[in-house]
Amino acid sequence: MATRKIRKMGDSILEKQSREITQMTPRIEALIDDMLETMYEADGVGLAAPQVGILKQLVVIDVSENADAPIVMINPKIVEASGEQTGDEGCLSVPGKVGRVTRPNYVRVQALDRNMQPVEFEGTELLARAMCHEIDHLGGVLYVDKVEGELRDARPEV
Ligand code: ZN
Repeated sequence: MATRKIRKMGDSILEKQSREITQMTPRIEALIDDMLETMYEADGVGLAAPQVGILKQLVVIDVSENADAPIVMINPKIVEASGEQTGDEGCLSVPGKVGRVTRPNYVRVQALDRNMQPVEFEGTELLARAMCHEIDHLGGVLYVDKVEGELRDARPEV
């Protein structure tokens, strides 16, 4: 495993549509492991493949307190969304900034797992927010386009 360089806002790859993954390969296996390591290293709760420069529909998320419950989603699609939550959101590709974004409070996502088997996830609150945010990345959408008001400087982590 290795960490990969996280692309920053302004890099045009972050604005492109990602392609579906049609079969698991050793390269994609390695990409999954590297993305998990990169996310944990950067203290993020989610990372999408375009953020490490790969235009494939692959997302990793871990919103658990101990960072020990990774979710891997291949070709994820939101099939149900309800409710609403408004709160601060940040992005590893937009370091040091946060902004208020309204998201569904519940989403149901269909995807493939790393064995290319169909899998379904339900998320509420932070997990729902992370799922929406990361799936947006696969369509070339950054949260900054959805911010209500201004992007603000994030408080330094204590
Ligand atoms: Zn992001």
